[in-house]
Amino acid sequence: MAASTLPTITLRDGTTIPRLGMGTWRMGDDPARRKDEVRSLQEGLDSGLRLIDTAEMYGSGRSESVVGEAIRGRRDDVYLVSKVLPSNADYNGTIKACKRSLSYLQTDSLDLYLLHWRSSTPLEETIGAFETLQKEGLIKRWGVSNFDTSDMNTLDRINPQAMVNQILYSLIYRGTEYDLQERDARHHVASMAYCPLGQGGAFLKNATLVQIAQQHETSLGPATPAQIALAWVLRRPNVIPIPKAATPQHQHYNRAATEIQLTEADLAALDRAFPPPRHKEPLAVI
Ligand code: NDP
Repeated sequence: MAASTLPTITLRDGTTIPRLGMGTWRMGDDPARRKDEVRSLQEGLDSGLRLIDTAEMYGSGRSESVVGEAIRGRRDDVYLVSKVLPSNADYNGTIKACKRSLSYLQTDSLDLYLLHWRSSTPLEETIGAFETLQKEGLIKRWGVSNFDTSDMNTLDRINPQAMVNQILYSLIYRGTEYDLQERDARHHVASMAYCPLGQGGAFLKNATLVQIAQQHETSLGPATPAQIALAWVLRRPNVIPIPKAATPQHQHYNRAATEIQLTEADLAALDRAFPPPRHKEPLAVI
């Protein structure tokens, strides 16, 4: 698939959002890696990726500051997502947190602002702040993260304007396939999949992933287990994986994962290695 044909999802408000993004958790934590991290995001943008996910929580603004450096001079190329911490999610706290994020990101507005997870603050209050931020042009739209099915039903009864629910989803965490993803798709809420690569490490050495990778190619050469894990998440049309790649090479491989079409036999083998849920499971979070 060519760089220009990255698929999109149409949100509830009729706008579109790219179907693959770039995560940023732990970026900015190690000054020695900062240059690579900035370059990785920039090369991701050059390759046609547009969506960058960050949060005020990540390094208390350090990740947002890496993103700010990476997007300087090219804000219009980027679909920018950040998140407010539940401990800041009262009305005034949300407004202040958003302004702080904008200053780290060196920009005037966010494309999407998420409540990181549900807090003791009434949802009405956080949504009130989101609406003020929208009116002032500081955010374009809002959504949530780590909301389970009942939370989403409650939220939609209060205000059916959440565009996205960002959730843990990968081959090793499939619980949301049982009902949450389907509920969100039915209501035109996109599922944004965090930790789609299982945070790297041992998962990417799984024998089934390795064996399937050997049967696929991308424009970069033989496919890798990480690309198979990503292609598997991408198979669901309402899901946007946001892998974090701190090196340009990983970023290019993730972009190229959109070229892979898994076969029925691949999917069956992955179901055997990582069984789908048979009953409702409480939402897993990291
Ligand atoms: P991921 O599943 O994205 O895994 C990241 C790890 O995979 C890193 O070690 C990275 O290495 C490695 N990696 C990336 N690309 C490749 C590749 N092509 N081949 C081999 N290894 C690769 O985990 P994250 O925890 O980062 O999750 C993704 C994003 O989701 C976060 O960065 C954050 O933006 C968001 N998130 C949201 C949460 C929420 O509560 N809403 C919770 C957790 C995450 P390297 O860095 O060296 O490239």
